[in-house]
Amino acid sequence: MTMSGAIPADCETSSNTSAGETMKTLSDLDFRNKRVFLRVDFNVPLDDAGQVRDDTRIRAALPTVRYILDEGAKLVVASHLGRPKGKYDPKLSLKPVAVRFQELIGRTVSLAPEVVGPEVERLKGELKPGEILLLENLRFHPGETANEEAFARQLASQIDIFVNDAFGASHRAHASVVGMVHFVAEKAAGFLMEKEVTYLRKVIEEPVRPYVAVLGGAKVSDKIPIIESLIAKADDILIGGAMAYTFFRAQGMEVGQSLVEPDQLPTASDILKKAKERGANLYFPIDHVVAPSLKAEATTAVLESFPFPPDVMAGDIGPKTIAMFRAILNKAKTIFWNGPLGVFELEPFSKGTVEIAKAIAAAKAISVVGGGDSVAALKKAGVLGQVTHVSTGGGASLEFIAYGTLPGLEALE
Ligand code: ADP
Ligand code: MG
Repeated sequence: MTMSGAIPADCETSSNTSAGETMKTLSDLDFRNKRVFLRVDFNVPLDDAGQVRDDTRIRAALPTVRYILDEGAKLVVASHLGRPKGKYDPKLSLKPVAVRFQELIGRTVSLAPEVVGPEVERLKGELKPGEILLLENLRFHPGETANEEAFARQLASQIDIFVNDAFGASHRAHASVVGMVHFVAEKAAGFLMEKEVTYLRKVIEEPVRPYVAVLGGAKVSDKIPIIESLIAKADDILIGGAMAYTFFRAQGMEVGQSLVEPDQLPTASDILKKAKERGANLYFPIDHVVAPSLKAEATTAVLESFPFPPDVMAGDIGPKTIAMFRAILNKAKTIFWNGPLGVFELEPFSKGTVEIAKAIAAAKAISVVGGGDSVAALKKAGVLGQVTHVSTGGGASLEFIAYGTLPGLEALE
């Protein structure tokens, strides 16, 4: 494996193959008459009426589904949807997903009443080549996120081949991503997974420098711990979104009502200390769009310093931050972006994210953007087609970029 000279030796992993190098792909296996378990990411947004609002993720899995069916397999498809916390929730049933999936694939999709159990075993057993059984929401069972062995064995029951096409879920060591793989004879990556790994490895292995990472969004506890690993790899890290305020708070600043995750404060402090020791370039907002609440009709103000008044919260980066981030992005040769810089869904807080999306698209760089909301922001900015690779996974792409592997990928090796 070749490593770019600019990558510090301490982030070399002990293994001498990189993630995804030894995993099998669909064309390596014989699917005829085999019972296949396909893990997909059908975690789609639903509207108020409970219908699928955006079917991008379902469409993205279709090439793999078609290939496996055309090869003559009996297909069991499984996904999670939302966070039902281990119990049945009619609002998070895969029913609307099954309807849309059936329309798009043009074949009958039977929805199982449960995730595992005697009825599911019967339905699996009766499947014929070319038929599709969609399991209910994997997270209706507590064994999924707990990666429980008994549950993993039930998922794997009667299955000959495991295929993972759920890149966006592969940073989680859950039963349908990791646990069950041990109990299935053959395993492979689907087309979507293969594509993600191919593109993201380009950024991981030989990033053309300067390499700039832009991080934001709301899932702070998912993302903050990963920044440390990214510090060793990227030349500059630009931080915005809600995440920035946990870092400010960790330095003792008064951030008003801005979103802070108290249990992440020690991690944030630790990262700041390490970044300083290593001379890493972490950039935080230098001005902030604030309002009494994050609403579409909010009256906003721009603040350039702390403390914030106790009754306001930050919803976007300000104009000076946009200019500073844009100047850094202008010189970048590789860009990775995950997480909006503000509450871009609401007009008063959308400018920072839209302007940064445009700057990323305009840069003469290899640009990779990951995350459902970040991709929605690219669309909003009208630059979706102007980045090099749009990844389906947010947390997964960030974790892969930072660590060079994912639990779900290691399970496929
Ligand atoms: P992605 O889906 O791209 O991985 P996340 O799901 O982590 O991104 O975060 C997206 C969400 O973060 C958006 O809904 C956005 O409104 C929210 N967000 C961004 N900045 C802030 C902020 N300052 N305060 C609260 N929420 C924010
Ligand atoms: Mg999101």
